Amino acid sequence: MSWTQIIGYVREKKILQRAILEGRVANSYCFIGLEGVGKDAVAIQFAKTLNCEEPVITDDSYDSCDKCKSCRSIKDFSHQNFEYIFALPTSKKADAKGANPIENLSDEQLEEVKNELEKKSKDNYYKMQIENASIIKISSIRHLKKSLTLSGSGRGRRIAIISEADKMNDEASNSFLKTLEEPNSNITIILTTSKPNRILPTILSRCQQINFGPMSNDEIIKALIQRDGFALEDAQLAAAFGQGSYTKALHSADDDILNLREQMLSLLRLSVKKKNYRLEMTEMIDLIIKENDKNKLHTALSLLLFLIRDAILIRENSKIDNLINTDKEEVLNKFVKAYEGAALDKIVYEIERASTSIYKNVNKHLIFLRLLMNIRKLLAVKTR
Ligand SMILES: [Zn+2]
Repeated sequence: MSWTQIIGYVREKKILQRAILEGRVANSYCFIGLEGVGKDAVAIQFAKTLNCEEPVITDDSYDSCDKCKSCRSIKDFSHQNFEYIFALPTSKKADAKGANPIENLSDEQLEEVKNELEKKSKDNYYKMQIENASIIKISSIRHLKKSLTLSGSGRGRRIAIISEADKMNDEASNSFLKTLEEPNSNITIILTTSKPNRILPTILSRCQQINFGPMSNDEIIKALIQRDGFALEDAQLAAAFGQGSYTKALHSADDDILNLREQMLSLLRLSVKKKNYRLEMTEMIDLIIKENDKNKLHTALSLLLFLIRDAILIRENSKIDNLINTDKEEVLNKFVKAYEGAALDKIVYEIERASTSIYKNVNKHLIFLRLLMNIRKLLAVKTR
């Protein structure tokens, strides 16, 4: 990976490369931004660039070669100058002072952590999922401090990344603050977080903060196509779920959203069918709610919402370029013509209302049935 493989963030990449070029790399950074926009990926790339033995330098760029020993060992997280700190599951035994808390995990936990780390090292955009890992422990910070005081490989700069730094508990935060108060010119610590308000203000104020705003839909769509092999239509739909986050968009595709969208379209068709629609509608609803997965049902309703929003755009003859369901333009055109005066905005309201009910203790079949009957009413479907 080099800077060219970091999705978006042209300005932020420039700031970091310029800091290297001008020899004013800060002792501590805090990368702030939504989850899944690549803050860790940028931090790892920055670490790699700072330690590269044969950097590729032009007037305004400073990139890693990705070939030298240093680049390769940072890539697989084995570099002596590189520490990657993250939340760990709690272990039964108390952590020995200064020991690496990873060594205290059970075999099973250790296996899980190693697997997740390997995935992260292969794809820096990967979000690690370690069971019961909600806290960055003081033992992790103590171990970090200890390894930072040891002399590294001699060359390059020592880098520590504290991923999701908001997960440091009070003890860890206070201990970490002391490290920040005694900066070492050859050490750079990078915190990443989507919840800066959960980090001690005294820590934040000592870091150079770099804000990663939401990614644009176009950037997400491009990444899904290029990195993940999505077809354009799939990428557009997934990006709509991402709301500025690449990995959120990527994971929405786990729900098989295209298939789910077809089911929602079928439901919409059934809701406007003149007669004999009830049985089919009931069966279709049962099929969708079968797994009783609230998030999936929420996704299903969002898909319906996106279809109606597209219909509104088409009806207003505006921003056709912004359609989410570009591949359904023809169907939506027909729908808009068939229900010219329908109160589509009220349908949007009904879908949103149903979406909030999904997480309440309400019969799911009933939520869908009520929504569809309301849509039927709003579209003024005549039975005779
Ligand atoms: Zn290199």
